[in-house]
Amino acid sequence: MFSRASRVVFLSVSALLFTTYILLPSHASILGSGGHQQFVLTDKSPVKRVAIIGAGAAGSSAAYFLSEYARKAEFAINATIYERCDYIGGRTTTVNAYDDPEEPVELGGSIFVQINKNLYDAAKHFNLPIADYGGGSPDGADQLGVWDGQQFVMTLHSGGWWETIKMLWKYGLSPMRTQSLVKKTVGQFLKMYDEPVFPWKSLTQTALDLELISATTSTGLQFLKSNNIYPPFTTELIQASTRVNYGSNLGHIHGLESMVAMSTDNAMAITGGNWKIFHKMIETSNAKILIETPVTSIERVPDKKAWTVKATKKNGDVLEDEYDEVIIAAPYQFTNITSKSIKAPETIKYNALHVTLFASPYRLSPKYFNFDKELVPDMILTTLPTSVEPDTANVGPAKFWSVNILRSVERELEKGVKRREYIYKIFSPDYWPDEKIYEMMDLPKDADILTWSYRKLWHAYPIEEPRATFQEAQLDFGLWYTAGMEAFISCMETMSLSGKNVAANIVEGWTSARRNAALLHPEGSL
Ligand SMILES: Cc1cc2nc3c(=O)[nH]c(=O)nc-3n(C[C@H](O)[C@H](O)[C@H](O)COP(=O)(O)OP(=O)(O)OC[C@H]3O[C@@H](n4cnc5c(N)ncnc54)[C@H](O)[C@@H]3O)c2cc1C
Repeated sequence: MFSRASRVVFLSVSALLFTTYILLPSHASILGSGGHQQFVLTDKSPVKRVAIIGAGAAGSSAAYFLSEYARKAEFAINATIYERCDYIGGRTTTVNAYDDPEEPVELGGSIFVQINKNLYDAAKHFNLPIADYGGGSPDGADQLGVWDGQQFVMTLHSGGWWETIKMLWKYGLSPMRTQSLVKKTVGQFLKMYDEPVFPWKSLTQTALDLELISATTSTGLQFLKSNNIYPPFTTELIQASTRVNYGSNLGHIHGLESMVAMSTDNAMAITGGNWKIFHKMIETSNAKILIETPVTSIERVPDKKAWTVKATKKNGDVLEDEYDEVIIAAPYQFTNITSKSIKAPETIKYNALHVTLFASPYRLSPKYFNFDKELVPDMILTTLPTSVEPDTANVGPAKFWSVNILRSVERELEKGVKRREYIYKIFSPDYWPDEKIYEMMDLPKDADILTWSYRKLWHAYPIEEPRATFQEAQLDFGLWYTAGMEAFISCMETMSLSGKNVAANIVEGWTSARRNAALLHPEGSL
C-alpha cells in the first residue's frame, strides 16, 4: 500500500502485464439500524469524557469517527487528545527540503492507495489535493532497478512492449498469480470495513473468520510458494517490495503483509503532506488537542468506571483529569506511560529504520552499482543475491533497503542562474553517513556536495513475523488500544481503521448501556 518505490515496482509490472480492477465495497453505516433514536435525551445525559493519547493516524481517526458516531447516536462528548510531539501526524509527517515550506518531503508514511477507504474518503471529503507524481525520470534514466548489492537483477525503463516480452519470458505466470492472490487477500481484508465484520471486538477472531490466518501464520515466501508463485519473481520483485515497505526479507515477514506490500494500484499522496488528513480529522472532531503534552500515567479511579490521566505540559505543569474512556493510540512500549492498574499490552519488536533525506546536484554513480549504462535508475530497490537465503533478517550486501530520487528541483543559485538538483530518500537499517552518499556518487570522502540533508531514526513498523494471535483493542473497561493492529497490517490506513474501530466499539457500548438502562427504567429519560 505504500512507498512510491514499491508502487512503481508493482505498477510497472501491472502496467506491463495486466490491468486490475479492485471493486470497492459499498459504504455501510457501522452503527446498525439506529435503534437508539427511540431514546429522548435530556439535560441529564452525562457528557462522555474521552482521552485520546497520540495524534497520529489512529488517534486522529479515533477522534474523528468518535465525534461522528456520537453525534449520530446523540451522545454529547468531551474529547481531549494528548500529543507528546509539537505536531499532528506521528509517523506521518513532512520536513521541508532546504528549510523551504514550498518543498515539503514525506519523512514517514508517504503513500496510500485508492482502496484505503478511510484516507481516500477523508481526502475527498476535506477537499485535499492529491499529489501529482509527474512522469518518468527527469534525465531519461530507467524508472526502476532492483539491485542485489552486486548487480541490477531487474531494470524497467517505461514499460514498452519489448520490456513486457522480457518480463513474461523471465517471470512466467508468477506476476499474474501474484496479482490475483493480492486481489483475493486484500478483498478479504476489505470486509473489515463493513458490517457484519465491522466493528470487530477481536482481531484474532476476525482474522480467523476472514481466513486470513493462513497468510499471517506463514512467511511471505511460504505463502507465495503455496500459491505457486516462485523465484525469481518472489526474490527479486516481491522481496524488493517487502524490503522497501517493511525492512524485511520474504522469509521474515508474514504472508498478509507481503500481499499488502504488493497492493499498490492507484497509489497517491496528499499535496504538502499526508498529515493534512489527520489534521483535518482532528479539527473536524472538535476535540481539544494538547500538543507537547505527554501522558505520563493512567490509573483506574477507585470504585468508579473511570480513569485518571496524568500529563505534563511543556512548561512543567502537571495536568490530571478523569475520563470515562481512554484510547491509547500509540505503541504502548514507546509511550513511557506508567500504570499500576492496567495490564500492559503486548510488547512487539519494531524495525529500526534510518531515513536519510538529502539534496544534491549529482546523480548516483553507475560505477558504485556495477551498472553499464550512463545513468542508474531513479528508484533503486534492493534484494538479496541468490547466494543468500531470504530467511535472513539482514539487509545483505546492498546494505540499504532503497534509494530514490523523490523529485528534481530547479534551484536558483543567484539571480537568473538556476541548476537542477535532486531530492533523495534512503531507507537503511543503519545510519547512512554523508561519506557513504559520496561513495554512491563516486566522489571523494570529503566532497561537500549535499545542499540539504535531514536524518531520522524511526521505530517504523513491527518486525512482521508470522503469528496467529493479535493484541485485542479493549484492554479493560473503558480502556482501548489501537496498536495491536500493527502486527496484523501496519500502515496509515489500517491504523486509521483501528482508531475507527475503537470509536465504533465505544459508541456501541454507550448505546447498549443506554438501551439497558431504558429497559430497566422505562419512565426515566437518560
Ligand atoms: C519511514 C516510514 C515510512 C512509512 N511509509 C508508509 C507509507 O508509505 N504508507 C503507509 O500507509 N504507511 C507508511 N508508514 C507507516 C505509517 O506511517 C504508520 O503505520 C502510521 O502512521 C502509524 O500511525 P499511529 O497513529 O498508529 O502511530 P503514530 O503515528 O506513531 O502516532 C502515535 C502518536 O502518539 C504520540 N505519543 C506517544 N506516546 C505519547 C504519550 N505518552 N503522550 C502523548 N502522545 C504520545 C506520538 O508522538 C505520536 O504522534 C511508514 C512509516 C515510516 C516510519
